[in-house]
Amino acid sequence: ADRVHVIGGGLAGSEAAWQLANSGVAVSLHEMRPVRGTEAHQTDALAELVCSNSFRSDEWETNAVGLLHEEMRRAGSLIMASADQHKLPAGGALAVDREGFAAAVTEALTAHPLIEISRGEIAGLPPAEWRSVIVATGPLTSPALAEAIQSLTGETELAFFDAIAPIVHLDSIDMDICWRQSRYDKVGPSGSGADYINCPLDKAQYGAFIDALLTAEKTAFKDFEKTPYFEGCLPIEVMAERGRETLRYGPMKPVGLTDPHRPEEKPYAVVQLRQDNALGTLWNMVGFQTKLRHGEQVRVFHMIPGLAAAEFARLGGLHRNTFLNSPKLLDDSLRLKADPRLRFAGQITGVEGYVESAAIGLITGRFAAAEARGTKSMPPPPTTALGALLAHITGGHLSADGEGAARSFQPMNVNFGLFPPISVPRQPRDPKGPKTPRSGKAFERKRAMANRALADLDHWLSGPASAAAE
Ligand code: FAD
Repeated sequence: ADRVHVIGGGLAGSEAAWQLANSGVAVSLHEMRPVRGTEAHQTDALAELVCSNSFRSDEWETNAVGLLHEEMRRAGSLIMASADQHKLPAGGALAVDREGFAAAVTEALTAHPLIEISRGEIAGLPPAEWRSVIVATGPLTSPALAEAIQSLTGETELAFFDAIAPIVHLDSIDMDICWRQSRYDKVGPSGSGADYINCPLDKAQYGAFIDALLTAEKTAFKDFEKTPYFEGCLPIEVMAERGRETLRYGPMKPVGLTDPHRPEEKPYAVVQLRQDNALGTLWNMVGFQTKLRHGEQVRVFHMIPGLAAAEFARLGGLHRNTFLNSPKLLDDSLRLKADPRLRFAGQITGVEGYVESAAIGLITGRFAAAEARGTKSMPPPPTTALGALLAHITGGHLSADGEGAARSFQPMNVNFGLFPPISVPRQPRDPKGPKTPRSGKAFERKRAMANRALADLDHWLSGPASAAAE
């Protein structure tokens, strides 16, 4: 089989190299540190954790990232094995000794007979003689390589910043207060004039909301993030600072909308949510990118009528992040359509987080291994956490052209909103029994999804075409 070149020895590149080598494919792993650094990395270790030392919840039954941990363990993940080896006490979370963890990954890759590690920046498109390449250079991809990738993708399809609006689970929105309607009932691609969910604010509510925005705690920009805002994606608190009415003329404008619950009363301002995934389970708050602290976002956004009990699939943010418009640019085995010898993995594909980045490394590594061995690889089923993440970045749930996803593509952590829905039989609940987080319909639904995921994963792993790394 042909040698595969992996660029970037972070979370994703390390996992991809491991999966390749363990399925018998020779790998060259190119890592620029310590020859050249990034704004966040501090060491020359592979798989360095740049910030927190937590892999988040380790509970697979009710937490999507915990489920992803379990799936990766079953798929022979080096990142998970090293994390388990260097686990620290952290309740239900998986926290690791960062030095021990990174050293374990580095040693395992260095010792593998099929892996050759070279240190140095790949400062442009990889040489033509490299027939199979995985680009796993992360959110802080070096500028020279990022520019080269941009020359293949076009200027608008590789982002250097995240300007993320919060995303809300549909079933936590109060539809007795909100309603569905597009501005001026404009008929959208869905064929209906009701593509948006609208939350109405009266004058007093709007005033209180602006006060809360102006006084809420913000996160500071890191030095390397000090780039002027694009006018198109100003944080809402910056807009509010420009004038108390600015938001009413921007993302909160109330025009073209009639509240069916109170048709005689014109809302003073309106927050709109737009469908964010094809399943219709996740909705993003239109124009609500923000630098407020996460806890403050929850507090302030719960003031919006209809969102008092909103559960957030992700909160808003604005930070340096290099990522592709993957639903448009990548094929279903994560190859760049414009140059299929290049595959992508990790955060640059539009996932968010250590575990998710490593998970895409695992999948990409398996795809590249299957190709190198001349076999066809089957993607993980969409009912698994691995498959749900893959579907998020390839737009697999959407129309064949991926257009719906491509327009609003934003990086995301794994969450149950990405999974195909499941129906659970109604559980007769003892009215006198305790109501705990481990009971109730939401808990049962997550547990059913998690059980379905692991059953489907095992089936996929045992199949001949999953290109398993044994
Ligand atoms: P990385 O782990 O960054 O790996 C990319 C590697 O490629 C790096 O080692 C880099 O040196 C190398 N590289 C880059 N360009 C080149 C080149 N041209 N040639 C050769 N090598 C190159 N996620 C969390 O879950 N928790 C957190 O607390 C967290 N904090 C973060 C803080 C910051 C400041 C940033 C930027 C991100 C954070 N993330 C966090 C998000 C993300 O999960 C991590 O960045 C994660 O490491 C991404 O994995 P990756 O493999 O895609 O990229």
